[in-house]
Amino acid sequence: MINKKLLALFGISFIIVIALAFLYSKYWREPAAKYVKTDNPKLIQIRQDLKELKLELKKNGLYSCCIQNECNWCALHMEHCPCAKLVSAKGNEKSCPECAAAWNKKQGRIPGVDPDAIEVTTFGIYGFEEGGHHQPDSSEDKTKTANTPHREGGEY
Ligand SMILES: [Zn+2]
Ligand SMILES: [Zn+2]
Repeated sequence: MINKKLLALFGISFIIVIALAFLYSKYWREPAAKYVKTDNPKLIQIRQDLKELKLELKKNGLYSCCIQNECNWCALHMEHCPCAKLVSAKGNEKSCPECAAAWNKKQGRIPGVDPDAIEVTTFGIYGFEEGGHHQPDSSEDKTKTANTPHREGGEY
């Protein structure tokens, strides 16, 4: 009798351990990547320069960002930020990757913008969006190509 109880207890414990191990591996194990403070002087200098550049651009009316922490992406790649204007274009909302990520977490600061409508763009810099710019409907190609500017290469 005691043996059977012990066996049952052992069985249950075993199942619980397996279940916990499964849950741990599936849900509770976080990816190892995390923020580590750096004192690399190059990085500190870059951040300082970037901050100053953004202040300067802002003063000259060239930095109009759309998120609560104004993005760095546009300063780094474009020397100006058009994102506030771009996210406000109803039906054609776009922003740089950094702003799009912030909107995704509801960190935008332009009222009336639908965060889910924003399409990420790199303004052709990474070449993964405007590069193709294929016509949505090939049956309209004939009429449209007459009006669209000629593209080198010609193949869509
Ligand atoms: Zn922005
Ligand atoms: Zn931006």
